[in-house]
Amino acid sequence: MRILITGGAGFLGSHLCDKLLAQDHEIICLDNLFTGSKSNIAHLLKHPKFEFVRHDVTDPFKYEVDQIYNLACPASPPHYQFNPIKTTKTSVMGAINCLGLAKRVKARVFQASTSEVYGDPSVHPQPESYWGNVNPIGRRSCYDEGKRCAETLFFDYHRENKVDIRVVRIFNTYGPRMHPNDGRVVSNFIVQALKGIDLTVYGDGSQTRSFCYVDDLLEGFVRLMNQTETVGPVNIGNPGEFTMLELAEQVLKLTKSKSKIVHKPLPADDPKQRRPDITLAKKHLKWEPKVPLAEGLKKTIAYFKTKV
Ligand code: NAD
Ligand code: UDP
Repeated sequence: MRILITGGAGFLGSHLCDKLLAQDHEIICLDNLFTGSKSNIAHLLKHPKFEFVRHDVTDPFKYEVDQIYNLACPASPPHYQFNPIKTTKTSVMGAINCLGLAKRVKARVFQASTSEVYGDPSVHPQPESYWGNVNPIGRRSCYDEGKRCAETLFFDYHRENKVDIRVVRIFNTYGPRMHPNDGRVVSNFIVQALKGIDLTVYGDGSQTRSFCYVDDLLEGFVRLMNQTETVGPVNIGNPGEFTMLELAEQVLKLTKSKSKIVHKPLPADDPKQRRPDITLAKKHLKWEPKVPLAEGLKKTIAYFKTKV
């Protein structure tokens, strides 16, 4: 198949390019390089089935493709809050452009949605049927509401125009090729530990997240895209739940770092708890994560040792 991946030069997108090329597909990687980088795809630039296009997903594009994976959108809070209006435009106009293309060329189109659609959840763990608790006017809203609106567009194009959609809700994912200055917790703690500087735990560190290793996540993506039982939304994530203090301690242990833990103010609207209910993924995709946190962290630490 010929497959378009928007955001293909980012952390998840570049791994997806690798995975789909290994399955012998032809890949068009479209990215404006806002948070992604050519170094993530440098090893692919000479591959005969790989093409990189520098383009903004908010501007229309046309390719004859069989499948579209829409991943374009900054994912870490400092990056998506850097230009919040652009973040909303990226999610909303990017979705419209991908859906319009899918409609014209009859491609199957996949949306990388997020656990952030659940906001600061009052239901725990979060099943797909939970409608969420999102502040519509806060600092995180540009991302959360942009992604929620993108889901709305996907389902309206599906109902109104019979576009063949798949929607995945991704829970915190980590692994090699995260940007060292990305600002997300796993990369921050590892980089801080390797540099021997203080690990910055926001708030008292009792808030929880559930961390999925990138290889597990992408297996879930491809299974969702290539089955016909469900269009989603489907949660993909690792149900292992950790406080940020527990994560900091694990990182210190695995890096054998002498760094200390310091506390910084908790950002506004920071969700207090997050854990996926993956019943649907298990049932429809026969999917569940395989890589435990300690093992995934070891691989990620090995990557960052080459970068910092
Ligand atoms: P990332 O920031 O590494 O990748 C995003 C990519 O999109 C980058 O290459 C960036 O340059 C590109 N991009 C941003 N705006 C664009 C635009 N207007 N036009 C074209 N390209 C643009 O982040 P990631 O972790 O790889 O996330 C990929 C997708 O998965 C995002 O849509 C994100 O919202 C979603 N997601 C990720 C996580 C996670 O934990 N990694 C969790 C939930 C959802
Ligand atoms: N966090 C932290 N220290 C950091 C970066 C983040 O304690 O250096 C916390 C953050 O407040 C949040 C959790 O870690 O509670 C996950 O943050 P991240 O930005 O990785 O993802 P998200 O909040 O979008 O789930």
